[in-house]
Amino acid sequence: MRKITAILLVFAVLAALSGCTAQPSYSENTFYAMNTFITVRLSAVSESGERVSESRLAEIHDECERMVVEIENAVSVTVLDSDTARMNASETGIADASAHFITLLTRSLAITEATDGAFSPTLRVLSDLWDFNGEGYVPTADEIADALIHTDPDAVTVTESGADKIDPHLRLDFGGIAKGYAAEVLIAYLNTTELSCGLVSLGGNVGLFGEKDGGEAYKVGITNPHAPDSVLGYLTLTGGFVSVSGDYERYFEKDGVRYHHILDPKTGAPAKSGLSSVAVIAEDGALADALSTALFVMGEEAALAFYKNGGYAFEAILVTDDGRVIPTAGVEDFFALAG
Ligand code: AMP
Ligand code: MG
Repeated sequence: MRKITAILLVFAVLAALSGCTAQPSYSENTFYAMNTFITVRLSAVSESGERVSESRLAEIHDECERMVVEIENAVSVTVLDSDTARMNASETGIADASAHFITLLTRSLAITEATDGAFSPTLRVLSDLWDFNGEGYVPTADEIADALIHTDPDAVTVTESGADKIDPHLRLDFGGIAKGYAAEVLIAYLNTTELSCGLVSLGGNVGLFGEKDGGEAYKVGITNPHAPDSVLGYLTLTGGFVSVSGDYERYFEKDGVRYHHILDPKTGAPAKSGLSSVAVIAEDGALADALSTALFVMGEEAALAFYKNGGYAFEAILVTDDGRVIPTAGVEDFFALAG
């Protein structure tokens, strides 16, 4: 499911990119990493209006791919010797982690605190129990209670060169933030190149660069969570990041019930917050990704209160289970429903 919606989102985004230079000409590369399809689409025109050579474009694509693989190898829970895997296998922690790992853990724990635990990078024991990446399994209340004991974010601390944990069983998972972080790292790199504009798309996380060029905007399609092969509406943006979390992205069904992959850290079960999807728009890619997950867990009322008082700069579009579309105040001007 996730792959299909990821491709659709990319398609919706790419189809609308043609506004970014006067003479649109693009160079696109799609590859599979971080458990999703990743697309990098670059304008073949430089900021000074010159054509960028094929070999230079290929070099930039290679560098983007290299950076994503570097992040994946550092933080993916499923890469055998990643920092995250080593941290999870260790009883006490690791002292030789990469900068990616330390940055992600630091930022994750800050967002955990700010969201009152709605976002948590310490849920791996639980998500393994539910087996979202395999067949799917509905655990008993006792099994959930036993797993929940090992998901306390306070049991992890960042050190100068790694991280410590006081619960040997605790396991990390950056699935709710790593792709947005990677989008941010790619856009930071692309901003240092001579290219005029472009985008990166990593499974529901989109990053844009080049707002200064031509002044024209990008149109980013937001998937309709109740009909994931269609677009709910379009954001018209001049830069920044968009991340979407939805109950349609990854799930399994048992006895007619859908169990999706976004867990409520308080109950240990898929969040039943009344929301079907949350899109977050922010200038910070990792934040957009983490907050889309957190707001999904919080539900409408708490998410809107967090928008007002949470201390982060972002906009959001909430879609409820009963089909209501709720844009935050600052997004109304640049969001339009499809059709
Ligand atoms: P996203 O698609 O960005 O909403 O991230 C969902 C992924 O993040 C899941 O597949 C899990 O790996 C992880 N995850 C699930 N629930 C949470 C949560 N409450 N906080 C942080 N990460 C989570
Ligand atoms: Mg997320």
